[in-house]
Amino acid sequence: MLEELDAPLAPLTTLRLGGPARRLVTATTDAEVVDVVRTADEAGEPLLVIGGGSNLVIGDGGFDGTVLRVATRGFALDGTRLELAAGEVWAEAVARTVDAGLAGVEFLAGIPGSAGATPVQNVGAYGQEVAETITEVVAYDRLLKETVTLAGPDCSFSYRHSRFKADPDRYVVLRVRFGLADAGGQSSPVKYAEVARTLGVEAGERVDLRTAHETVLRLRAGKGMVLDPADHDTWSAGSFFTNPILADRQWGAFMDRLGDLRAPAYPAGEGFTKTSAAWLIDNAGFKKGHGSGPATLSTKHTLALTNRGAATTEDLLALAREVRDGVRAVFGVELVNEPVMVGVSL
Ligand SMILES: Cc1cc2nc3c(=O)[nH]c(=O)nc-3n(C[C@H](O)[C@H](O)[C@H](O)COP(=O)(O)OP(=O)(O)OC[C@H]3O[C@@H](n4cnc5c(N)ncnc54)[C@H](O)[C@@H]3O)c2cc1C
Repeated sequence: MLEELDAPLAPLTTLRLGGPARRLVTATTDAEVVDVVRTADEAGEPLLVIGGGSNLVIGDGGFDGTVLRVATRGFALDGTRLELAAGEVWAEAVARTVDAGLAGVEFLAGIPGSAGATPVQNVGAYGQEVAETITEVVAYDRLLKETVTLAGPDCSFSYRHSRFKADPDRYVVLRVRFGLADAGGQSSPVKYAEVARTLGVEAGERVDLRTAHETVLRLRAGKGMVLDPADHDTWSAGSFFTNPILADRQWGAFMDRLGDLRAPAYPAGEGFTKTSAAWLIDNAGFKKGHGSGPATLSTKHTLALTNRGAATTEDLLALAREVRDGVRAVFGVELVNEPVMVGVSL
């Protein structure tokens, strides 16, 4: 277990933003993770758990407490059942499942961060989300002060949400278990229109597993959504805003504002429709690369807010507010941030 005082947090985030932690502890076993959490809780010490720092916006003032960096390792495959330690690098674990010929997470290729964070916001992309394959989450429950095993259906997964995100101070994820599928070297059915188009197949068809994985990586790289330290377009927290889900009445009001424009519309359960945050941003007048300061929209994707190298968290938040307020003014739709805010708010 490594312990540092007054430790910079910016290098531990993909945005490279945020002030220092009063204390930073890196834990490499489940027992160490639990020990750090218990000790902090007993002392009434503020605690922030981090994995790869790819979904975090940390304030310039840093974190006045203990930051626990989960760096446990463990990839255990038993037939089609996979158990990952929380600290495993998600993108590497996905690549290994593809090498093993198993389907279920192949479209989640190239997403930065740790396995333990994937249930937190029910990580998803290109028509797949972890809720579809997570069978169990093993977590330390800070309320019950014991390690618990939650079955997938008990995790309250929904679009970019879960019981872990709803109750952020309660669970520290230790292990995540997945039920994958042996589809004879084939992928899960393709659901996402852009992937189907790129592969020249119809939605619902299966393709070669490796081809699916490589196609997603290529599509993501084209949007600056695969980490590359040399490319400032990837100094982001991925999508900064979630896609808005509007109730029928809100949808009607939105339609009234559109005039000749046609916004993307996806069914999101009885009485709800989801639209695209990227489309709203673009059509509200914020184009790729928007911004003249040290924080700008990505030059490859309007949904990613990026640090061009010398930004502060306040610079990034000023840009986020400008975009959120602009979309509200044009379309009457409120954009909500996807990354977790630490010590700051929009
Ligand atoms: C370029 C880029 C592309 C991205 N693309 C996608 C995408 O396609 N789809 C998508 O869903 N997300 C995407 N993201 C967001 C991000 O990668 C995911 O949310 C990822 O799961 C975050 O993992 P992390 O380990 O970096 O979490 P962190 O950023 O370290 O933490 C995020 C949150 O999870 C909590 N947390 C972390 N580990 C644990 C744990 N062990 N137990 C309990 N809580 C924990 C933290 O406290 C915090 O609240 C992208 C990000 C970037 C930078």
